[in-house]
Amino acid sequence: KQYCFMFGEHPNPTKAILGGKGIGLADMTKFGLPVPYGFTITTECCHFGKDLPADVEKQIDECIKKLEEKSGKKFGDPTNPLLVSVRSGAAISMPGMMDTVLNLGLNAETREGLAKKTNNPRFAADSYRRFMQMFGNVVMEIEHDKFEKVLASVKSKHSRVLDTDLTTEELDEVIVGYQDLVRKEKGEFPTDPRVQLRMAIDAVFGSWSNPRAVTYRRLNGITGLIGTAVNVQMMVFGNTGDRSGTGVGFTRNPSTGEAGAYGEYLLNAQGEDVVAGIRTPHPITLMEQELPETYKELMAVFQLLEKNFKDMQDIEFTVEEGKLFMLQTRSGKRTAAAAVRIAVEMVEEGLIDKEEALMRIDADSIPQLLFPRLDDADKKNQKLLAKGLPASPGAAIGKLAFTAEEVVKRLAAGEKDLILAREETCPDDIEGMNAAKGIVTARGGMTSHAAVVARGMGKCCVSGVSALHIDADKQQMIVGGKTYGPNDFITLDGSTGEVFENKVQVVEATVSGHFQTILDWANEFRRLGVRANAENRKDAMKAREFGAEGIGLARTEHMFFTGNRIIAVREMILADQVEKREEALNKLLPYQRADFVDLFSVNEGLPVNIRLLDPPLHEFLPSTKADMKQMAEEMHISVEKVEHLCASMHEINPMIGFRGCRLGVVYPEISRMQIRAIVEAACECVEKNANYKFGGIEIMIPVVAHVKEVEILREVALDTINKVFAEKKQTKERIPYKVGVMIELPRACITAEEIAKVAEFFSFGTNDLTQTTLGYSRDDAGKFIPVYLEKNVYEKDPFQALDQTGVGELIHMAVERGHKGRSDIHCGICGEHGGEPSSIDFCHRAGLDYVSCSPFRVPVARIAAAQAAI
Ligand code: ADP
Ligand code: MG
Ligand code: MG
Repeated sequence: KQYCFMFGEHPNPTKAILGGKGIGLADMTKFGLPVPYGFTITTECCHFGKDLPADVEKQIDECIKKLEEKSGKKFGDPTNPLLVSVRSGAAISMPGMMDTVLNLGLNAETREGLAKKTNNPRFAADSYRRFMQMFGNVVMEIEHDKFEKVLASVKSKHSRVLDTDLTTEELDEVIVGYQDLVRKEKGEFPTDPRVQLRMAIDAVFGSWSNPRAVTYRRLNGITGLIGTAVNVQMMVFGNTGDRSGTGVGFTRNPSTGEAGAYGEYLLNAQGEDVVAGIRTPHPITLMEQELPETYKELMAVFQLLEKNFKDMQDIEFTVEEGKLFMLQTRSGKRTAAAAVRIAVEMVEEGLIDKEEALMRIDADSIPQLLFPRLDDADKKNQKLLAKGLPASPGAAIGKLAFTAEEVVKRLAAGEKDLILAREETCPDDIEGMNAAKGIVTARGGMTSHAAVVARGMGKCCVSGVSALHIDADKQQMIVGGKTYGPNDFITLDGSTGEVFENKVQVVEATVSGHFQTILDWANEFRRLGVRANAENRKDAMKAREFGAEGIGLARTEHMFFTGNRIIAVREMILADQVEKREEALNKLLPYQRADFVDLFSVNEGLPVNIRLLDPPLHEFLPSTKADMKQMAEEMHISVEKVEHLCASMHEINPMIGFRGCRLGVVYPEISRMQIRAIVEAACECVEKNANYKFGGIEIMIPVVAHVKEVEILREVALDTINKVFAEKKQTKERIPYKVGVMIELPRACITAEEIAKVAEFFSFGTNDLTQTTLGYSRDDAGKFIPVYLEKNVYEKDPFQALDQTGVGELIHMAVERGHKGRSDIHCGICGEHGGEPSSIDFCHRAGLDYVSCSPFRVPVARIAAAQAAI
């Protein structure tokens, strides 16, 4: 079997076999570009480690022979030495994680030969000292710093600032220093080029499993690769003088996407000098003046490569005495903004079609386009305090506040820009969260309350920053031994999870025309509808602006926390008779009605799905002594009574306690009030505007387990609706509605056929369905999910990406059985998963009608839904 291939000679090259670098070099060779000769040892050899089979060794020897013939140079020949680089390169690029050795083949004799042959002793000395350093570090595993110290001491001895200032004699001093260092650390430096080569190949294959590379793959979810390939390539030299140089370039700007060459280069330099920051590199456009001919040639190559690969290329090149050599090309990494612009412009240029453009977008990166960002340059100037989870992207700068009430109070008193810092948040923090610039929590995961709510609000949030100690009573945040109070500023980066001291500068996000274009294209291809989870005018308008086709979930309880409503809610809870409860509910009715009028008016012509009260009632009760006292005062009852009430409402396991439709079955008056508010709101819309068009009102019963629950509440609903219709002289024709269920319990999936007979739609509440199917409390899962991910129990957090084999199977079952019960049952998803690309792909395949997600995920969902359909 053949394991070694000269560039361009593999009969059916793939990235998997040749690696990204290998295939780029092979392709460029085939295009006839000036690529230094070389060969690739395939990724299939990586697992052999140092024990390369004899036939691989033989093939390497044969390739070296071919290399010698092609180049006219000889390995180890003192008069005309062949030098090579030994380069790593896996199927997926892992920038800087694996190793490369340059200038291999040098020893005392070949160095002399090189000096004579080129008539450039300084260049030969420079190459030799670079080789010793790289080989010593990568292959002999001597710390990089130790070489740098030797180099620095010679430079300072001769008062040289730059490496390029060193003379041949001074470089010789460095070489002697390196030799001493190597001898002291590891013994003699190998002088036989063939021994050097073999050691370097082993080391480069070995670098596949160095801790850096392993970590990088884990963090980036890179799995299923068999290893790195090794590329052995004849050296070309950018370090021979000022007609030589090396550079990296992109065919378009990787951060903005703007067309036109972008990049940097250095004269009289080699390899990593450009990125290592030893000297400040020049912008690539300057090359037009410094090396005009070469620049012209390079630009032609850029164009050719982009045309061929039909994608923005990341290119490495070297110039030797004015002659251009290509050393690498690959599809370049880019920001979300650049990705969108490049994709759109490539369609306009006729390079790719719309489908391809859509597939090129990483849907997960889209939120980046919607939030202001921190200035990366300024981040480096500021002190990083701690790192948590990037719970909700964006940037937030403000003074610390330690309770939700504090935020509201201080803002009312005229302060601006507060960041809510909590151990964790709870539902009645909503107002404070909404008012804060950003949220940081010490506990809680990516689906913790703070994270979910913040994402819903499109608010920057960093969660689970375990290094923070937050003492709300003392108004203190302690981190790294330092204490921060209410007058201290911090900055959050919700896209990275970083928490900085003080203020970092931000750059505003703009929704560009390209972004709009790609979203429009998404609509041409997707089958899934996209709705939003929203319950107030502001969010609903945002959602509509982002292209949502209605509301998939309006959580009515969120409305209960605002303003004075909580008092009426508490009165209702306190009431021990139906009449009193109804009295309290009557106070809530106008508020709810007004909320629904708002929702309808923003969503004219679009469906609006409203969920009846869901959480256990104790969530509306105070939790601290001070709040209990306040409640007692407000309601003119004793503190003891409040305490007693709170104690009696306490539940051991509230998420599977007295909540959801259970509330409505036991206290139908609550449901009656809500349904009345919905229908009266609808009537009001018609009264205000005779032409108002409904897209369909959906009344949703939550946490259904049994068809009987649905029957009972459907009865309540129809009864109330008919009453209101009679009072207001309206009809179902004018105000179309449906009564349906939220499916979030396994029993509901199993009995979906029966349920569908009385429910007109299903909406999968996959947060709870995941919780109840897996038996993991999502508020506690943060303690073990990270370990589960590390041990590969799940590939992704099941609360973020739908567990397709488990929860997904239940959804399949429910969709199928549901259709048996009602052939045209409408099905959607309203859990957090509705905005996550892999879950959206699942929803498409499962035959759902729509996904619903937070307003800021709507563009993500549109793109992911199109990708699922393409
Ligand atoms: P990485 O994957 O870390 O970028 P490379 O294998 O691309 O490592 O090597 C780093 C740099 O070394 C290249 O960008 C190029 O400048 C230089 N280099 C590699 N091979 C050669 C060669 N044959 N001749 C000249 N320079 C080379
Ligand atoms: Mg490279
Ligand atoms: Mg639920």
